[in-house]
Amino acid sequence: MSHDYDAIVLGGGPAGSCASSYLARAGHRVLLLEKERFPRFHIGESLLPYNHEILLELGVIPQLEAAGFPVKRGAQFHLGNGSKSTGFVFRNGRFTKHTEAFQVERSRFDEILLRHASTLGVEVREEHEVQQVTADKTGVTVVARGNDATSEFRARFVIDATGRGNLTGNQEGIKEVNPFLRKLAVFGHFENVLLDSGQKGGDTVIVRLENKWFWLIPLALGAEGTPSKVSVGLVMDRDEFTASGQKPEEVFRHWVQQSPPVRERLEKAQPVSPIQVTSDFSYRNRTLWSNRVLRVGDAAGFIDPIFSSGVFLAMFSGKLGAKAVGTALKNGNNGDNEFVFFERRVRAALKIYSEMVESFYTTPFMELFLEPRAKWDLAAAVNAILAGELEGGWRLRWRMWLFFRLVRLQAHFPLVPRISFARSP
Ligand SMILES: Cc1cc2nc3c(=O)[nH]c(=O)nc-3n(C[C@H](O)[C@H](O)[C@H](O)COP(=O)(O)OP(=O)(O)OC[C@H]3O[C@@H](n4cnc5c(N)ncnc54)[C@H](O)[C@@H]3O)c2cc1C
Repeated sequence: MSHDYDAIVLGGGPAGSCASSYLARAGHRVLLLEKERFPRFHIGESLLPYNHEILLELGVIPQLEAAGFPVKRGAQFHLGNGSKSTGFVFRNGRFTKHTEAFQVERSRFDEILLRHASTLGVEVREEHEVQQVTADKTGVTVVARGNDATSEFRARFVIDATGRGNLTGNQEGIKEVNPFLRKLAVFGHFENVLLDSGQKGGDTVIVRLENKWFWLIPLALGAEGTPSKVSVGLVMDRDEFTASGQKPEEVFRHWVQQSPPVRERLEKAQPVSPIQVTSDFSYRNRTLWSNRVLRVGDAAGFIDPIFSSGVFLAMFSGKLGAKAVGTALKNGNNGDNEFVFFERRVRAALKIYSEMVESFYTTPFMELFLEPRAKWDLAAAVNAILAGELEGGWRLRWRMWLFFRLVRLQAHFPLVPRISFARSP
């Protein structure tokens, strides 16, 4: 059977644009099928500094700079009652090679990446929703529904980048939800949010309440570097939200009022978008590949967004996925060996952030996290992970291993002062 394409990429988010761009640049025939027409709204607006490496390789930095996205140089973490806070500046991290990231409105960011993929030679078809993927010994058949017709395409390989749509993972019944992280997010965009200006004007601000947290992400800067549009979201247990019986706006307003650091920053805020809700369940597919099909980005696994790792992991896995498929195409085989290696590296990356996220919801983690100490360069190691340093080798691994041991010790013996989530009277 003849093949129309070397690879078909499903989905045009950061993972799909990235994977298809690398493949097209290597001279392969690539079709990308995206169900929406871009620009389209997407949540997930704060990038990590190590994203820059990939954006540079793809040659898309000039377009992103021209778009005027705010530059993130660090992140601030506050306790919900305002009693304690800490800040990270990526530049100060001893192991951190890349120190600046963009904060992006995803509709614009994703469109820039998708159009760029097209200029690199990817055939992009929007408004094509993939419905079925069937692999056999020699290739894969993809059925997609366009505006007025259903079409069939054939390629040697498929890269599934359908995000939380998780097309092939659902098709194969291999999705495993993390039972401890069944979360939901309530969010919107606001003007007149009181955030820092200057060097800290691009910081992500995270506010941690007892079992929930807020993000504040500047999306546009006005005069004197003051944020003029800010994404604000609340992440909480899905069951608690349901049990409250309240509308999303009411839940959002209630928790803003319960948290002085958020309340003060939103005192004069005006919404410029409706308040929206999305599920935020962390999950992983049991395998990241099957016969001639690779899963990248959220279609491999989704992690609670507390450390803003999603887009970076999407592009990191997209790049590795393209490399694995490219090697298989060159060798003329079914790619199994490359895919095993791909899965190992992507799983290792997912594991680093999963451990951080699961730990983040515990009090001992917050106690240590809010008291960064120079000793043994542990804070520097955490800084590097927060920037996206995934393959920093042994010098980061032993430090993170020790950090998590100290978190466990802190549960029993106070190595640093205890924190309290109680509201001051
Ligand atoms: C509440 C929340 C907050 C977040 N905050 C952050 C953050 O601050 N920073 C961060 O880095 N990440 C964040 N994320 C995560 C981030 O949104 C994702 O990790 C990232 O978008 C993954 O990129 P992707 O390309 O894998 O998937 P997506 O960006 O979701 O792209 C998938 C694409 O596939 C298309 N598609 C789906 N099904 C089909 C189909 N059947 N056929 C054709 N096309 C299809 C979709 O239309 C979409 O365009 C957050 C996520 C949530 C839920």
